Amino acid sequence: MGFAEQLFALHHELLRATVALIRDCPCGQGCPACVGPEAMAGDGGKKHSLALLELLAG
Ligand SMILES: [Zn+2]
Repeated sequence: MGFAEQLFALHHELLRATVALIRDCPCGQGCPACVGPEAMAGDGGKKHSLALLELLAG
């Protein structure tokens, strides 16, 4: 198994963990604990972050 493959697997796992973290957060629109302060600027920050992450995670 090459280094790139290991890196990809790790990256994938990180993405999945991030999706779970945001989805399981009790907030509605996103908070500093899940999506971070920058994503709080607009409405639906949580929803958009989740959609993007799920796309990346496959
Ligand atoms: Zn949150």
